Amino acid sequence: MSLSLTDLKGVGPKLAEKLSALGLQNIQQLLFHLPLRYEDRSRVCPIGSIRAGERLAIVGEVEAADIRYGRRRSLLVQVADASGSLLLRFFYFNQAQQKAFRRGMRVHCFGEVRNGPAKAEMIHPEYRLYASDAPVQLEEVITPVYPGTEGVSQQLWRKLTDQALQMMRSGLLPVPELLPDSITQSHAGLSMQQTLQYLHRPPLDADLQQLAEGRHPAQRRLAFEELLTHQASLRQLRHWAQQVSAFACPQGGRQVKKLLQSLPFHLTAAQQRVSAEISHDLGRASPMLRLIQGDVGSGKTIVAALAALQVLEAGLQVALMAPTEMLAEQHQREFEARLQPLGIEIVYLTSRAKGREREKLLQRMAAPQALIAIGTHALFQKDVVFARLGLAIIDEQHRFGVHQRLALSQRDDSEHSPHQLVMTATPIPRTLAMAAYADLDLSIIDELPPARKAVKTSVIAEQRRPDVISRVRAACAEGRQAYWVCTLIQESESLQCQAAQDTAELLSEALPELNVGLLHGRMKAAEKSAVMQQFHQADIDLLVATTVIEVGVDVSNASLMIIENAERLGLAQLHQLRGRVGRGSQQSFCVLMYGGRLSANGKARLKAMRESNDGFQIARLDLEIRGPGEILGTRQTGLLQMRVADLIRDAELLPPAQQAADQLLQEHAELLPSLIERWMGKRLDYARA
Ligand code: ADP
Ligand code: MG
Repeated sequence: MSLSLTDLKGVGPKLAEKLSALGLQNIQQLLFHLPLRYEDRSRVCPIGSIRAGERLAIVGEVEAADIRYGRRRSLLVQVADASGSLLLRFFYFNQAQQKAFRRGMRVHCFGEVRNGPAKAEMIHPEYRLYASDAPVQLEEVITPVYPGTEGVSQQLWRKLTDQALQMMRSGLLPVPELLPDSITQSHAGLSMQQTLQYLHRPPLDADLQQLAEGRHPAQRRLAFEELLTHQASLRQLRHWAQQVSAFACPQGGRQVKKLLQSLPFHLTAAQQRVSAEISHDLGRASPMLRLIQGDVGSGKTIVAALAALQVLEAGLQVALMAPTEMLAEQHQREFEARLQPLGIEIVYLTSRAKGREREKLLQRMAAPQALIAIGTHALFQKDVVFARLGLAIIDEQHRFGVHQRLALSQRDDSEHSPHQLVMTATPIPRTLAMAAYADLDLSIIDELPPARKAVKTSVIAEQRRPDVISRVRAACAEGRQAYWVCTLIQESESLQCQAAQDTAELLSEALPELNVGLLHGRMKAAEKSAVMQQFHQADIDLLVATTVIEVGVDVSNASLMIIENAERLGLAQLHQLRGRVGRGSQQSFCVLMYGGRLSANGKARLKAMRESNDGFQIARLDLEIRGPGEILGTRQTGLLQMRVADLIRDAELLPPAQQAADQLLQEHAELLPSLIERWMGKRLDYARA
């Protein structure tokens, strides 16, 4: 039985909707929305001993409260105890608030200390006011801090979870142990209820360090259950997917041989091995579910083209999906060059195709003839129906979710399920990959084409920009092309685009003999593709771009890459960017520019980039330098969104969780739906079972 969120006091339809957007559909799920971190507000610091940068609680007497009209109107409240005084500063406040700070009132507040112009300050602290003789109520538990969301304040999170915990303790809200004893590792002596109570409201003697690191036994038992659930759900999907039959496509066709002969190069041993694995899978009557991992530039595209051809030769259709239009277009270009001479029909579908034109494309896919459709998310749309889809290829997997892959496997008129091939350039360690893609078989292209010369990377301070500009001039004078990547503040796309625009202008002034092009995320798709086309044709010598070029762009004549503010990017992202050069046989160079002074950590990161060209090694280094938890962060989380578990931090829980998942499916498959409801909510579409 699950209780609706609106059964909580203070939750109306509007708030319920907000919570639902976070994947929280009922009160049980709310209980599994755990604090992000914890703060000890139970101890009050003497004001005289506080230092900037600390988050802490103080109690003091209000000495004065005034409005200042400086650059920004603000309310300043001076608070003192026997040891010293500090200022509370508010930029947003109302009259009632201002009036409440009467001289002589006592205030208990919590916030981060900063050095203000006059003395120590707290900006917008959380606070409570007391009459001068009233006792101050100090917290009796460690204060939880929940992952923030607009419109749901910390106080509100605490109020909601207080109620939910109360309902749980009184038995109104059942939170059962779902895993049988034979499967759980150790419970650390805690019931599920005790575990949740502890993590929402840790007692004052809790080990905060351990909690902060996510290594508390209560956290680990939840992490284990969550990992197990993800594993089991993915294995289940795989199992179902393989119950359906697929078209068996004969190996060793004439066209495949022709394509191989037409290539200006020989496949590497790794490409051959992976190709053979795929070809074998495609020859069987149950659907292939395979992931190709390979470093940037390892030549995944041709492997995909060979797979496509085997399926096309069997008279079936192929869909190739890329995460961006730019990448889709790139694939289109490459597939046209390689496959059109063999008489293969290629259809290109993105959201740009509208009306009659789109109609016509859809009609061709709905007709039972061999063709390959290349495109973006537009290929996922409901009205896109393939007559005989034999193979779906998805490039750069981390931008698509599991459920999108599922949606795709249902895009067919026939009783058959398509083979699936997923390609990713996100280098992650093997065990991790196996966990994240438990529903897929794994093939790794662990070798670069032989003619490749490793990109030479240098690290240069931003003050030496004139030298860098000279290098661009010299490279282009030799007929090469170059990228200049602008990375400003990552959070603001518009600022980033502005920076690229400004840089492009400055560079065209500094390099009047060159054609300078500009590419950024705010440009229209048609503009972007026109610019890319010009760069491909070498009509543009120097392409100034934001990180939109990160994925998949392939112009082999480009041999120089400049990356501004390189210290702000993650190693994996730098590696992806750098992978845009070093695609031809000439020596390529990458210049990492940094602004200001580098931190020790920043130095170590850029040094790592200078010393290695190996994506897997860089991923490992990134892990060591940035520490656990961040490596699969932001961009890559789409791959597996966990509430509690962290694939890196909890890596050693993975093998037992995998084992337990298999055991669960064999012995207690009936428990899986409840586990999925608890941990994944509606994020995975299980409706098709
Ligand atoms: P990625 O794995 O990053 O997607 P691509 O498939 O784009 O790499 O290949 C990068 C470049 O290497 C392309 O220009 C491609 O034509 C070329 N290439 C692929 N395989 C080989 C090979 N075996 N020998 C030489 N060049 C190759
Ligand atoms: Mg690629």
